[in-house]
Parts: sequence; structure tokens; C-alpha cells
Amino acid sequence: MEKNVKRRNTQQRKVILEILRSTDIHPTADWIYEKARQVIPNISLGTVYRNLKILKDEGLILELNDGKQSRFDGRVDQHFHFKCLSCNSIYDIDNRKIVNIEHNDLRKEGYQVQSFDVVFSGICPKCNGNQN
Ligand SMILES: [Zn+2]
Ligand SMILES: [Zn+2]
Repeated sequence: MEKNVKRRNTQQRKVILEILRSTDIHPTADWIYEKARQVIPNISLGTVYRNLKILKDEGLILELNDGKQSRFDGRVDQHFHFKCLSCNSIYDIDNRKIVNIEHNDLRKEGYQVQSFDVVFSGICPKCNGNQN
């Protein structure tokens, strides 16, 4: 019995992780829940939340707080985010120049940086194009 429960939990977590890794839209827990239900019809939203927390604690996913709700990211390598104030999309930004500037300046001041988050916000190219 114990073993079956454990196996089921592992399976659920695997499905949730795969869903997150298959998208770059930085979805909400509700979005993940809808997708997970297509694979595991009897999964509950509470289970999705619990597994997201475990995955986050294990360092396998990121939780991004956009001020209103949590969004999740299956990408955990160093990257940054651009949040569009018009359509609410979150984009991945891969410009590494930012890292070097921050780290070198702070190191000179005696800080040992282990990680940091950068979130840009504004209007994304898609919305910008729509306005023209
Ligand atoms: Zn936009
Ligand atoms: Zn991301």
C-alpha cells in the first residue's frame, strides 16, 4: 500500500514536470492542472499545488510571482524574464551580458553572489506590433 501511494505520487510529479518542461509560457497552476487532467483524469488541483511545491523545493522548477498569482517555469538554468504589461505573457531572456556586469561590480564590493533574478517589464514585440 505505502509503496503504491509512493509510486502514484512519483508518477503525478513526473507528469507535472513534463507538462512544465514542454512549454515556455510560464503557466499558472490552473493551466498545469487542466493539462494534467488530460493525462490523469482524477488528479486534483490540490495535488497539483502540492507537487509544484515539492518540485520547487527540489530545485527542478521555478516559481515566479507576478504580483497577482504564481507562475511556474520548467527552465532552471540561469535566464531572465520579460513580463508584458499588455498581454501578461512572460518571455525568457537569454542575454548573458547582464550577469557579468552585476557579478563583477558586486564582487568588487565584497558580495559573493550565488543567484539573482531579473524581471523586465514593458510591452512585448507582439503587443507592440499590434499597436502600430
Ligand atoms: Zn504582450
Ligand atoms: Zn523562464
